[in-house]
Amino acid sequence: MDVNTDLDTLYQELGLDRAVIDYGKKVEEGLKERFAAIDETAEFNQMKVLKAMQEARVSDIHFAATTGYGYNDIGRDTLEDVYAKTFHGESALVRPQLISGTHALHVALSGNLRPGDELLSPVGKPYDTLEEVIGIRDSVGSLKEYGVTYRQVDLLADGSFDYENIRRAINERTKLVTIQRSKGYAERPTLSVSRIGELIAFIKSIRPDVICMVDNCYGEFVERIEPTDVGADMIVGSLIKNPGGGLAPIGGYIVGRQDCIDRASYRLSAPGLGKEVGASLGLNQSFFQGLFLSPTVVAGALKGAIFAANIYECLGFAVRPDGKESRHDIIQAVTFGNPEGVIAFCEGIQAAAPVDSYVTPEPWDMPGYDAPVIMAAGAFVQGSSIELSADGPIKPPYTVFFQGGLTWYHARFGILKSLQKLMEAGIAQLPILC
Ligand SMILES: *Cc1c(COP(=O)(O)O)cnc(C)c1O
Repeated sequence: MDVNTDLDTLYQELGLDRAVIDYGKKVEEGLKERFAAIDETAEFNQMKVLKAMQEARVSDIHFAATTGYGYNDIGRDTLEDVYAKTFHGESALVRPQLISGTHALHVALSGNLRPGDELLSPVGKPYDTLEEVIGIRDSVGSLKEYGVTYRQVDLLADGSFDYENIRRAINERTKLVTIQRSKGYAERPTLSVSRIGELIAFIKSIRPDVICMVDNCYGEFVERIEPTDVGADMIVGSLIKNPGGGLAPIGGYIVGRQDCIDRASYRLSAPGLGKEVGASLGLNQSFFQGLFLSPTVVAGALKGAIFAANIYECLGFAVRPDGKESRHDIIQAVTFGNPEGVIAFCEGIQAAAPVDSYVTPEPWDMPGYDAPVIMAAGAFVQGSSIELSADGPIKPPYTVFFQGGLTWYHARFGILKSLQKLMEAGIAQLPILC
């Protein structure tokens, strides 16, 4: 028989050198215990989602498409019930009409803030795209234009909360506190759910009526609990990240307190209409099924992030989080110190993709960024970052941000392919010992 059934041979046909394959095996060998713990969390979260689906009595009638106004869309209403049950909130807004994470955050903020109110971020600068939503960078239609002011308290140098200045920043106009769970592309550490809980408890001890919202992007199902379990009034995220499980082709969610969700819904559709309208257009099945798969997809992405950290740490590059740290999101940063490293890494991720593997990514001047950015994304869904993807601005310290992978095997291959490209470019050399 001359059909190959040997995995290493197949890897070589896919362009990996023997030495890279062997190095990958060696690194993986040391991660068994951590991977087992990730699998246990995934199993827990899988049962959590399943329980919510059973309690909501999900049925195939809920996969039917609605059009137009979308009145009586029981699939949409049941999906929102499943999200509310999964994340332990009173209500949920889960819609294809929420275009992205940024849009969902904008709807949650603008629905719950009124002129004269103040918004506080006690965890430093929010995600880039929110700067224009809030008006930190002047922007047409920002909250600032509507008379909502903004205050920010940075984390202390060691990453802890600056309680003293948070206390000072809270005043009679403070209406809503926004807490970003993931570090995103910032330098600070990602917050664990329990740390978020401590922060919320502190804020509520000063002003119990302040709305605490958590930007939950990239954090869903990484732990057994979510911010709604530790006092968050609203959590917000994107369906082309973790909870869409790679199947949702669009969408965002907001889960939390009934009154907060209702106000957001009046902003998304119109006052008086709220959650009653909004056709699901045949997307419900992929939303249900994506949520169902999400805990295992997130587990694969987490393993990929930890594998990447250990692969590159051992090679002498700075990685954040480091190879040993516990994880609270799926993002991995690797610093190369030169543009060639960032470019070679992204070329490897692109070359490992199921879609557009044959194209070569190049840095370009993206709107909103102050340096050229290179992006690798051979995704089934445009811009999906639960799928294997990487990007990095071409500026010091030349850091690439890596995330996703719909399966652990694919994430693993993508990282080895990035290493292959770095070796071919003469930027990385395999260590003798690790
Ligand atoms: C991705 C992300 C967003 C914005 O989501 P988009 O879907 O890209 O608009 C907001 N906050 C954080 C922390 C994110 O990671």
